Amino acid sequence: MQVPSFSLKDQLSEIGVDLSSAILKVVESGHYIGGLEVDKFEKSFAKIIGVSHAIGCNSGTDALILALRALNIGHGDEVLTPSFSFFATAEAISNVGAKPIFIDVDIENYLLDLNLIKEAITPATKAILPVHLFGYPVNMDEILALAKENNLRVIEDCAQAVGSIWRGKPVGSIGDIGCFSFFPTKNLGAIGDGGAVVTNDSQLAARIRELAVHGMPTRYFHTDLGYNSRLDAIQAAVLNVKLAFLPKWINKRQKIAKRYQVLLKDIPSLEVPSDSLGDNNVHSWNQFVIRLKSSSQNKQISKENLKFDLKKIYDQLPNSSFRDYVKESLLALGINTIIYYPIPIHLQPAYAKLNYKYPCLKNTEILCSQVLSLPIFPELTEKEQDYIVNHIRDLIQSYL
Ligand SMILES: *Cc1c(COP(=O)(O)O)cnc(C)c1O
Repeated sequence: MQVPSFSLKDQLSEIGVDLSSAILKVVESGHYIGGLEVDKFEKSFAKIIGVSHAIGCNSGTDALILALRALNIGHGDEVLTPSFSFFATAEAISNVGAKPIFIDVDIENYLLDLNLIKEAITPATKAILPVHLFGYPVNMDEILALAKENNLRVIEDCAQAVGSIWRGKPVGSIGDIGCFSFFPTKNLGAIGDGGAVVTNDSQLAARIRELAVHGMPTRYFHTDLGYNSRLDAIQAAVLNVKLAFLPKWINKRQKIAKRYQVLLKDIPSLEVPSDSLGDNNVHSWNQFVIRLKSSSQNKQISKENLKFDLKKIYDQLPNSSFRDYVKESLLALGINTIIYYPIPIHLQPAYAKLNYKYPCLKNTEILCSQVLSLPIFPELTEKEQDYIVNHIRDLIQSYL
């Protein structure tokens, strides 16, 4: 059996025809930049997230850049964020000229450790940028309280969390600005790149809109240096078709996650992701990420042909041989898994200049050597899930 880590095959047989006709309509309309589909999507998306403004843009990365710029965060400013995330979170901070200050994560839920925020605040700190990683909502009550106490802005990275809810509120609607990605593998995926910035603040919304179109409030009048970052009309048309299916897809992800949790519960050295979320909170399960915790073997990097730089980093990280063994054995059985993320952002060559030296963010470093994302997408079948779980159980038994 072959099980992909992510697949659109079944989704396309369900809605492929609708997508094609929506795309054709855009082609025939002649309106490729902005237009009805983009307006419609921005309105519908704002409604779903429960905010007054949604502004489409080119990608989730651009959404973060636009949010930071709209809050006037730049040179000399510091932004508190996790190192256990996709690189774009920190990259956006650096690309507006500010400095990411990496905060370790909680080992239970993989999210920003809220107890570490206070001690990281300096006079240069301007904002907190929490990431709702894998779809698990960050405790936004505590983030907002910390932000208020210290006069900081809050930008939510919701790239992996369309459909997640914290205390009854959709993520993205809670901080000053929320940033979404429609990269094809996110819960709401376009057929290419796409993103959105959301806010309840009309002034911020106007500024984001201007920045996204060359800092241009009216045609050929430029008040600032901005970007060319718009949501493409074709992508908007695709997203308009897909929006109607989003609740169903998230529901299916939740069922799959629940089933994984039950089936994987009693396997030694394997930890299933925490789901102790409490009332009124919703996990949207963009990823189902297990931890493989045994370190019973000597450290071995199986990826022999790693480039030197990468090998040097792996050599520094905690032992990942158990996780790597499970991953590679599953692959040999046709089961594709992904490591989100193998190297913490603070140890990436791109951030050598910030001088973080291993060991420093302990939980982040441990997680990078132990996590493994199992296949999860709405159309994953129970049969495929059983195949995955049974092999994981056998593999671990033979390893330990
Ligand atoms: C995907 C992702 C981004 C970037 O989104 P793109 O649309 O790929 O630019 C940012 N942050 C996180 C946490 C992501 O997963």
